[in-house]
Amino acid sequence: MSELISNFLAGQWQTGNGAGTALIDPVLGTELVRVDATGLDLAAGFAFARNQGGAALRALSYRERAAMLGAAVKVLQANRDAYYEMATANSGTVKNDSAVDIDGAVFTLGHYAKLGDSLGDRHFMLDGEAARLGKDPLFQSQHVMVPTRGVALFINAFNFPAWGLWEKAAPALLSGVPVIVKPATATAWLTQRMVKDVVDAGIFPSGALSVICGSSAGLMDALQPFDVVSFTGSAETAGVIRSHPAVAQRFVRVNIEADSVNSALLLPDAVPGSDAFDLLVKEVAREMTVKSGQKCTAIRRVFVPEACYDAAAQAIAARLSKTTVGNPRNESVRMGALVNRAQLDSVRAGLDYLKQQAQTLHDGATHALVDADPAIACCIGPTLLGVRHADGADRVHNTEVFGPVATLLPYRDAAHALALVRRGQGSLVASVYGADPASLGATALELADSHGRVHVISPDVGQLHTGHGNVMPQSLHGGPGRAGGGEELGGLRALGFYHRRSAVQASTTVLASLSA
Ligand code: NAP
Repeated sequence: MSELISNFLAGQWQTGNGAGTALIDPVLGTELVRVDATGLDLAAGFAFARNQGGAALRALSYRERAAMLGAAVKVLQANRDAYYEMATANSGTVKNDSAVDIDGAVFTLGHYAKLGDSLGDRHFMLDGEAARLGKDPLFQSQHVMVPTRGVALFINAFNFPAWGLWEKAAPALLSGVPVIVKPATATAWLTQRMVKDVVDAGIFPSGALSVICGSSAGLMDALQPFDVVSFTGSAETAGVIRSHPAVAQRFVRVNIEADSVNSALLLPDAVPGSDAFDLLVKEVAREMTVKSGQKCTAIRRVFVPEACYDAAAQAIAARLSKTTVGNPRNESVRMGALVNRAQLDSVRAGLDYLKQQAQTLHDGATHALVDADPAIACCIGPTLLGVRHADGADRVHNTEVFGPVATLLPYRDAAHALALVRRGQGSLVASVYGADPASLGATALELADSHGRVHVISPDVGQLHTGHGNVMPQSLHGGPGRAGGGEELGGLRALGFYHRRSAVQASTTVLASLSA
């Protein structure tokens, strides 16, 4: 039997007392490690983090906590090779895809280390200017932001075991709030190892960082009113979290990052062979294949003018056909595996479901697997679907197939295109491709109310844009409606979730002491 990895709770490494769940290499089918959280005293662990970890973090300034983030960056960088090996084994990802998760995590942590340093030696933040409350200017109101006296519980998805931890932990720890992370079971190994490396380095105070691997049972029950919970995963589990008594009755603050049927939109004036057309084709093929399409931000629906439909189908299919799929250890392979057999089954079922309303423009089944046994490996080639009558294809607008799958859809005019994009009911991101700055700007504003991020690609930024699906810490991540309604990152905005805003009404002489 494989090693049972430990949980870190109440300042101690603790193994569960159950048999554990095995984590499997999705390419070779071998067992890697086991995880288990059975029998952990969650109430005591949460109380320890809340009381010891929280108090110790709050005693430090933003700058001191930022320095700790910077020290964690160095530890993670020193262990990078080990993380890549774990990602290959447990997530079945090629190096470039592992980088999105691992290097993305380190970059984001480093970004918050720098931002935190700029906040200086303070222990709280002022929010706006003081405002007079009456005729006499002596009595005024000043809003302040102070760290919440609770824990931040992260319930994370399987597809970003590294970035999913640090993009949340960076703003939480910088805010002075202790973190308890529960990674998705399928890929918990890498999250646990990163926490272990940082804990072993003794950077953060005891209780500041905890990890629980295995079942989620009892985690939500352990939450108290000043705690916060941040969930990333499927819309179905998000519903369970939102209706849990911790949220519904104890009013624990919650952030939800759920699934999303993201769009790419080629503006009406584009023609086949134009820069905008080529940029869309390139980005769609890239988004479909990076991490085998297991990105919450990946392009799922591709909208093009009717006149461009056939050319776009051919151009995207031509790119996809060059994608080599299989064992990520083979240097010639560009796209590795899905995370496990359950995901492979789910992608196959999703494809069958969409195909009842769509035709296949490029069939992933035509990709022979390189260096991988199709009976064992959870690999699948990229599939481009197409629907000539976009209005009737409700499944395409409603269904996120979490794999290398996207659907091409034609539109009549700009108003039709926007109406179709909005049928996603709110998404994390839309990308827009065109050459006319005024049309691009106007379209971005049209889409801003239903998307957390609008990624606008004109030829001048064709070589330097950061990618439709890449989440940058400077920009907001999250989306309204079915995307969950959450907000993460966006620079210092992320700290708001971990702070409480309060209005201090007092004499200006008292308020002056707050600014000192
Ligand atoms: P999931 O099945 O919903 O699981 C997410 C997390 O919730 C896992 O840690 C899971 O633990 C836990 N969980 C399951 N049931 C729970 C319960 N009753 N109470 C508390 N926690 C529970 O999602 P997934 O399959 O890991 O992730 C894929 C989905 O995540 C996709 O739909 C994708 O779009 C979405 N996603 C969104 C974002 C974003 O930022 N918006 C980012 C990445 C992924 P176990 O693993 O132990 O079951």
